[in-house]
Parts: sequence; structure tokens; C-alpha cells
Amino acid sequence: MGPSGGVRRAQIIPTGKTKPMSAGYDVYIGIGSNLDNPVIHVRQALQQLADLPRTIFLHKSSLYSSKPMGPADQPDYINAVASIQTELTPLELLDELQHIEAVHGRLRNGTRWGPRPLDLDILLYGEKVLTLDRLLIPHPGLHERAFVLYPLCEINPALIIPLKGSVLELRNTCVADGLEKITP
Ligand code: ATP
Ligand code: MG
Ligand code: MG
Repeated sequence: MGPSGGVRRAQIIPTGKTKPMSAGYDVYIGIGSNLDNPVIHVRQALQQLADLPRTIFLHKSSLYSSKPMGPADQPDYINAVASIQTELTPLELLDELQHIEAVHGRLRNGTRWGPRPLDLDILLYGEKVLTLDRLLIPHPGLHERAFVLYPLCEINPALIIPLKGSVLELRNTCVADGLEKITP
């Protein structure tokens, strides 16, 4: 609750400026879409992250275009990374992200890495390392995916990924075939 008793709603804040929050963790979210006008899905998702309860939006990367991982007979992806500061617990945040995915029409039909209107993955949650049935943090693919490492480096090149090391070094050694920045 905010000082006036109402529920606090976050706003997208220009890069470098943050509102103070008492006990929030810095969290990085990976965003991907390759169906039904992916750029729109990604932009709407950025706004929906900013609207999460008990959350402040910090930074967003450029949008990137990438070749699909897994089945090749699907459209290219649009990817981005956002950082937020949140008081939601990791599982509360996962529930919120899965709700947003469902609002965008995400269906889980059993095809791993199949086409989807929206994918929201928790990449990092502070410096936590979690191994839960529903949630692995850091995200297990983060350290080897160019479409995550490039946008992540753009918003925080000093990041250290628990158990893996410098995000900048990982980006510099990953294979970036087919990755293109599409917006400044
Ligand atoms: P990948 O996780 O390899 O990028 P994906 O994003 O396509 O694949 P999903 O179908 O979106 O996978 O998610 C499958 C399950 O992964 C989810 O139901 C969720 O419980 C679990 N999961 C584990 N760790 C995470 C995480 N860090 N962020 C989001 N989901 C996660
Ligand atoms: Mg994913
Ligand atoms: Mg996912």
C-alpha cells in the first residue's frame, strides 16, 4: 500500500532513475515472442511488467530479432530484457508472469521451444540461487543464449551471474548467429 492507502502502481521510469523502495530485489526478465505481431506483444509486456504490484520498472533493453531455438519451422523471435525492482517473492512473480503470458494467449501444447505469442522468463532474482520444482534461478539457459546475453549486457554490463560469472564475458564468447538489434 502506498502512503495514501492506495495500491502503488509502477510507471516505466527513464533509464538511470529509480524510485526508492524498501525491500525490493533487482530482477531481470527475459521476454520473447514469435507469433501475431511479436513487437506489439513485447511492448505490451514491458508495460505490463511496469504495472505489476509492489514493483518498480527500472530498465528495458532494445528489441532484438533472433533465429528460433529448437524447432526451425517457426517464425523468428523478437526478444528483449527488462529489469525491475520488486517486493514480490520469486513464486509470486512467476505466477504474475504466467498470468501475463496467458493474457497474451500463450498455450502450452507440450512442444518444447515451440512458437508462442509471449514468453516471460525470470533470468535473475537478486543474487538468489533457487532450485524449486517450478522455478530455477538463475534461468538455466541464460549463460549460453545470445538473445538473452546481448540485451542483458545492454542494461547492466557489470552483472555477475551466480555460478556462471561475468555477463559481459559470457556475451563476448557466445555465438550470436542471426541476432540483430532492431530498435535503438
Ligand atoms: P526455457 O525455460 O528453456 O526458456 P520456455 O521458456 O519455453 O523454455 P516455458 O514453457 O515458458 O519454457 O516454461 C516451462 C516451465 O519452466 C514453467 O512452467 C516454469 O514453471 C518453469 N520455470 C523454471 N524456471 C523458470 C524461470 N526462471 N522462469 C520462468 N519459468 C521457469
Ligand atoms: Mg524461455
Ligand atoms: Mg518460459
